[in-house]
Amino acid sequence: MPEVHLIAPGTVWLVGAGPGDPDLLTRKAERLIRQASVIFHDALVGPGVLGLVPPHVRLVSVGKRSGRHSKDQRTIDALLVEAALAGERVVRLKGGDPAIFGRATEELAACRAAGVPVHVCPGVTAASAAAASLGLSLTLRGLARQLTLVTAHARAGEELVLDWDALADPQATLAIYMGKAAAPIVSAKLIAAGLACDTPVVMVESASLPEERHFSTRLDLLPLAARAALGDGPAVILVGRSVAALEAHDRPRVAVSSAAGR
Ligand code: SAH
Repeated sequence: MPEVHLIAPGTVWLVGAGPGDPDLLTRKAERLIRQASVIFHDALVGPGVLGLVPPHVRLVSVGKRSGRHSKDQRTIDALLVEAALAGERVVRLKGGDPAIFGRATEELAACRAAGVPVHVCPGVTAASAAAASLGLSLTLRGLARQLTLVTAHARAGEELVLDWDALADPQATLAIYMGKAAAPIVSAKLIAAGLACDTPVVMVESASLPEERHFSTRLDLLPLAARAALGDGPAVILVGRSVAALEAHDRPRVAVSSAAGR
């Protein structure tokens, strides 16, 4: 029986590619990737997922790793609309979940403004993938009642403005995206706002990929650990008592430890 088409000509799907491991794609995402006529993808979407793209599908990289050359958001919006208006089946493939720090709003708005039907297929976000790799829960009954996904990325030349008092909640887990460069500020501000110096922290780089690495540390040592340990891959920083469970069986005697190898 022929496969039912999820994606009509002239429509756009924003598709979550997950954290990197192609096995973490949803079945729907995989079908959309197979049915597209053109795919615009981020730099975060790696070879594992791109390997699923059939040879006849046009693959366009639209960049986006901080600090590196990439197409600006308006250009990407325009490319999506133009392709859809030309009758293509358009997939916009984004790392993780498109609705989490994924600039989905701009792309949805651009499509709607042009009268282009647009839909979203969710994906596994980096924090979920990191927790899964570590074998821990991001929430803890009675201890971590809240999970906050926060980006520590500030626009070039701008100060990182966050509600530090609200974030410094000992009953919350923080999942900090794009936090490598801002690690010293994050650590200092959270401690100044009252979070304990020894609050457990785990940094997970390249979650779900073969090169994945984890580093356990504590909040006051985070700047040193981030500088010393993190490499070039994307990293999510988990802060809070929920990651203490990991500390208990993986406690480093030094500030930084690698738990590489899965
Ligand atoms: N939409 C994505 C986030 C995009 S912002 C999602 O839902 O996951 C890019 C940031 O996501 C990176 O700087 C990093 O903080 C995080 N990230 C993405 N993929 C990751 C991975 N495989 N491992 C760890 N962090 C990742």
